[in-house]
Amino acid sequence: MVMRYISTRGLAPAQTFTQILLGGLAPDGGLYVPETYPQFKKSELAAMREMDYPQLALAVLSRLADDMPGEDLRAIIDNTYTPAVYCNGRNDVSTVDITPLLTLEPGLHLLCLSNGPTLAFKDMAMQLLGNLFEYVLADSKQTLNILGATSGDTGSAAEYAMRGKSGIQVFMLSPLNKMSRFQTAQMYSLQDANIHNIAVNGVFDDCQDLVKAVSNDQEFKRNYHIGAVNSINWARIAAQIVYYFKAYFAATHHDEQSVSFAVPSGNFGNVCAGHIARMMGLPIKQLIVATNENDVLDEFFKTGVYRPRDAAQTYHTSSPSMDISKASNFERFVFDLSGRDSARMRAWWAKVDRGEGIDLKSEALFDSISDYGMLSGSSNHACRMETIRDTWEKYGVMIDPHTADGLKVALEYFEPGVPMIVLETAQPAKFDDAIQEALDRTPERPEGMQNLENQPQRYTVMDADIEAIEQFIMTQTHRHKLTE
Ligand SMILES: *Cc1c(COP(=O)(O)O)cnc(C)c1O
Repeated sequence: MVMRYISTRGLAPAQTFTQILLGGLAPDGGLYVPETYPQFKKSELAAMREMDYPQLALAVLSRLADDMPGEDLRAIIDNTYTPAVYCNGRNDVSTVDITPLLTLEPGLHLLCLSNGPTLAFKDMAMQLLGNLFEYVLADSKQTLNILGATSGDTGSAAEYAMRGKSGIQVFMLSPLNKMSRFQTAQMYSLQDANIHNIAVNGVFDDCQDLVKAVSNDQEFKRNYHIGAVNSINWARIAAQIVYYFKAYFAATHHDEQSVSFAVPSGNFGNVCAGHIARMMGLPIKQLIVATNENDVLDEFFKTGVYRPRDAAQTYHTSSPSMDISKASNFERFVFDLSGRDSARMRAWWAKVDRGEGIDLKSEALFDSISDYGMLSGSSNHACRMETIRDTWEKYGVMIDPHTADGLKVALEYFEPGVPMIVLETAQPAKFDDAIQEALDRTPERPEGMQNLENQPQRYTVMDADIEAIEQFIMTQTHRHKLTE
């Protein structure tokens, strides 16, 4: 039986992995999830313990992308997860592991996920996505216009994964003047003809709303072959499941042990992958959701009330990639929490999509939240600075502001005997203002990135206006056809 994917809102036809690969939202506005989660038994876990990253990726992804020929999937994975692609690691770990584990003290680890071309964990999934897209497009002779929104790291990861790929154009919306100089330069300095940077007068959530609005314009979406690379894209979540397995084996000696993960969170994509790894049988004790001052997720896990906030209530912080107040992947988790009740999901998300809150506390199901191992906490600028400083002084390890939020919250829940793994979501080099403030020194940059801010930049400034964005895509698509 081929794995089928269903929508959280229950009104879209079930599809296979390659059928949903290029799309974003399901036609009914929901998100695709596996109809049932594949299960890894204890005996299967034991056999996976010695696998290297590509082998593990194949073991996990072949269960989720089972409508692809196994040999093709293997070739794509072997091409993606190489030390040459993930070569920008810190000096204190070896990059042959792809996602090395750095031990701060016995039982407390950092999982280094940001050794790819753009120095953030987004590269882990996006590089795979680029190669999967190329594969299915070549097979079907289709073209694709990728429309995305970024708070800083998704955009560059997507653009570095898609640059120069034939049949693909990227339209990336980013909030004007809200990203770090390094993040901005990384994106806007790309000169590839198939990459279009649109700087929106607004915040990240405005960008995300525009992407949703265009995706809901079914006719435009069809005519212009609009695809998505935002974290609502299922293949990205699937790719992220793999490193939870890798980290588990690296931090334990046998499969009777369980571990906890602390995940710096914004759109809930990364921690959603952890939730699914757990549902697939990985022995995870706690999944700790760490937020910054934009604490909508922390509020939910503490109170049962999910209260998405509007742009005016979204703070611009020193961990900017988490400045998100509407966590799109959260819908996938609540779908499981609801007992996969798509009628209730439709009722709740009709409110969420209008910007209203939902209160799950009054529903009996919130009582079962502890069965999912979810805990949460939040951080702020002062805590972030202190954590960066403490980690540097105590361990000689420099961490970025997002990872600092994760570590800060992890330490609130660290318990003896249960390894705690903090996901390192970016490298300090991306956020030198914050590092300068915390440590009074500049982070070192990987080879070849020293001069990034001085490169010429290429971007278009636009208002948060759906018609203007659609017009821009139409114009560029026609122009691209003419010059091809
Ligand atoms: C994207 C990002 C996050 C948030 O991840 P989600 O999957 O959106 O929860 C955290 N830290 C960094 C550095 C990021 O780029």
